[in-house]
Amino acid sequence: MCYTDFMMMPAVTRGVYPVTVKNLLLYRVAAFDAHSYLTHAIFTRRGGYSQAPFNTLNLGLSVGDDPQVVKKNYEQVCQAIDISPEQTVSCHLIHSADVLTINQTNRQKVMGQADGLITATPGIYLSMRFGDCTPLIFLDPVCRAVGLTHAGWRGTIKDAAGATVRAMVTQFGCRASDIIAVIGPAIGPCCYEVGPEVLAAASPVLPNAATLFTRRNGRAGHAHFDLWEANRRQLLVAGLKQVIKSELCTACRTDQFFSHRAERGRTGRFGVIIGLRGAAV
Ligand SMILES: [Zn+2]
Repeated sequence: MCYTDFMMMPAVTRGVYPVTVKNLLLYRVAAFDAHSYLTHAIFTRRGGYSQAPFNTLNLGLSVGDDPQVVKKNYEQVCQAIDISPEQTVSCHLIHSADVLTINQTNRQKVMGQADGLITATPGIYLSMRFGDCTPLIFLDPVCRAVGLTHAGWRGTIKDAAGATVRAMVTQFGCRASDIIAVIGPAIGPCCYEVGPEVLAAASPVLPNAATLFTRRNGRAGHAHFDLWEANRRQLLVAGLKQVIKSELCTACRTDQFFSHRAERGRTGRFGVIIGLRGAAV
C-alpha cells in the first residue's frame, strides 16, 4: 500500500460506548456486541477500592498501591464480566513487539515478558494494564481468535501492532483482512508531547511519519505525537480493513482513566480483558 492512500481510506469507525456493570464503569466495543462467544471489557478507574492517587479501580501491582487492594479490584473486574481471575493470562510488559501465543498447554497466569498476547482457545482471557500506552484489541470473527497488545511509543516504533497481526496469521491461519482491531483509550495527540529522542526514533520507521507530529508550542525539538494514528496506519499496512479508534485520551479524561503523564507518574493502571467464552480451565 502506498502511504498516501491512508488519507483516502474510510477505515476509521468510532465505536466504544460506556456501560455500568456491577458498579464498575467500563467500555464495550460496539462491533464486538454481535459476537456472543466473546467476552471483553475496557475498564476505567471507577468502581474500585484503592485510595488516592490510585483511586479507585487500580489493577497495577508495580505502582505502589496495596497489593491486597489491587487483588480485590482484580477480583471485582473479573466478576463484572463473569469470569474468574484464574482464567486470565497476563504478561510482564517490556515495550517490545514480542507476541506470545497462549493455549491449553502453555498457559500460565503470568506468561513472562511480552507486549502482545494471542489465543484461539475458549476459556483463556487475555488481560493487560494501561495508563497512557495504547491498548490494541483484536478479534478475528472468522477464525475465532483474539489478541491484546500494549503499544507505547517504543512498542509502536517496533510495530507491535503489525507483529500481533502477523502472529495471528501464522499461528491460527487468520486472514489479516478478517481481523478487527480497536485502538483503546491512550494518551492522545492533544496531550502527548514528546522530545527529540522520540522524534528521531520514530521518523525513519513510521508510515508517513511527518504527519504524525504537530509542533504546537514552539519548544525546540518537541512535538505532539499521534500514537493512535501511528498504530492505525501500522494496522492498515498489516492488511486490516477495519480499525476502530476509541478516541478517548487518558490524559484529558483522568476522571475515567489513569494517565501516567497527566498525573506525573503517581497513578494506577486500568485493565483491558478479552477472551473467547468457555468453561473454567
Ligand atoms: Zn488529551
